[in-house]
Amino acid sequence: MNSHTNPPAGETPPPVFTALGLVPELLQAVADAGYTTPTPIQVQAIPLVLAGQDIMGGAQTGTGKTAAFTLPILQRLLPFANSSPSPARHPVRALVLTPTRELALQVFESIRTYAKYTPLRAMCAFGGVDIKPQTAELRQGVEILVATPGRLLDHVEQKSVHFNEVMALVLDEADRMLDMGFIPDIKRIMNLLPQKRQSLLFSATFSEEIKRLADSILQAPVLIEVARRNQVSETVTHRVYPVAEGKKRQLLIHLLETDEIRQCIVFTRTRQDCARLARELERARFSANAIHGDKTQSERLKALDSFKSGETRVLVATDVAARGLDIEDLPYVINYELPHVPEDYVHRIGRTGRAGRSGQAISLVSPPEFLYLAEIEKLIKFRIEQVMLPGFTPEYETALQERSKRPDRGKRPARADKAAHTERVKRPDKNMIAADGFDFSKPYIPKLAAADESIPSENAPAFARPTGHPPLKKPIRPVAALLGGLGRKTR
Ligand code: AMP
Repeated sequence: MNSHTNPPAGETPPPVFTALGLVPELLQAVADAGYTTPTPIQVQAIPLVLAGQDIMGGAQTGTGKTAAFTLPILQRLLPFANSSPSPARHPVRALVLTPTRELALQVFESIRTYAKYTPLRAMCAFGGVDIKPQTAELRQGVEILVATPGRLLDHVEQKSVHFNEVMALVLDEADRMLDMGFIPDIKRIMNLLPQKRQSLLFSATFSEEIKRLADSILQAPVLIEVARRNQVSETVTHRVYPVAEGKKRQLLIHLLETDEIRQCIVFTRTRQDCARLARELERARFSANAIHGDKTQSERLKALDSFKSGETRVLVATDVAARGLDIEDLPYVINYELPHVPEDYVHRIGRTGRAGRSGQAISLVSPPEFLYLAEIEKLIKFRIEQVMLPGFTPEYETALQERSKRPDRGKRPARADKAAHTERVKRPDKNMIAADGFDFSKPYIPKLAAADESIPSENAPAFARPTGHPPLKKPIRPVAALLGGLGRKTR
């Protein structure tokens, strides 16, 4: 079928960039970037943004949301583009706020890619680096400014930036801004912007707080949502390895040695764990690097470049540092520790299985983390396959394995064993989580926070949140698993 042939009746032709109303300069830049088909968020957002509409966009990193807002904003700024050397002719007309330096840089790179056939000037301002070169660049005049909120306010205080001509504001990853405590800064910045402007807010999740923020910033916004929120890509295979708390590092090394993990991001919860694990992996002779909030900007960029070039095999990261990382074609994401906020699992996994490629999400889960696993499964609405690796499983499994080897196996359980036996039979699944969410492996923690109705459930600590998790549809058979009989099925 050549390109002029009509598609068969009933079949919708794939969307094309030329149908979105973009000017040739931008279409050429998009073609140079190698994009042939606009992504769903681009199809929805580009015409609306071109029309000057405010938008509340539900889209995660990896959906093509940056081009979805950048391309039409560039087009709206084009009538003001000029090549005059006078800074006064290049006031800030579009402001993009991002929660992290990495995301700011990524958005800035995208803007440079898409604006390459226009004389529009863009720059990026973030903290952790010398402010002087940024000040100098700002004073030369830029039409599009990408910034993190704190550093932007530093520039405001220095009077190196003015917002009188701002036509468009983008709040990218608003949920993360909220998590990182940036809302007061955002509000201060909002007060400095002209009332009459276009505003776009993007967020992977929409909590009540995000909706309140959106109400205060957007005017009659159109809600566009691609891939339902908190949904993970269909092309990602998820797998959990139950592991004894003290054996995680060994298991990770075992997986790196035996699985075909060419490159992976390994997530830890804290900066300390992140740094320690990267050091331990290096000691075990893996090329590893850490990326976390205590690292300087140049260290973070160096680590990222080295990972992108393939020099580093394992990038150990915390959630905040990894947020928005644009690493194409990453087949493996490993959760060394599960996040305590289930949405972060979705964000982490967003780094694999992009653009229809296949990806693997591996989680090393020790008994105290099973409650978080239940929360994650509730959010993503499916049970993740559990794979038992003999030698690494938690005590409970090891005990089962030992028991199955004992010569008196099959005899009536002795009295002392009886309770354990009955308990094992009673348990709906072997991951030590009762149907009501109670974790048998953990010390009892009273559900005080849950009882306190003044705490909204999403803000209550994870252990205090009711899980309401459905019982396992398919019971996992520990013995088969221990004998290596559980196949590596995709979910
Ligand atoms: P984003 O969600 O904006 O972080 O984009 C994720 C990745 O998708 C980036 O590497 C973009 O370069 C890429 N991308 C954006 N739009 C398209 C498209 N229409 N076709 C192919 N790749 C795209």
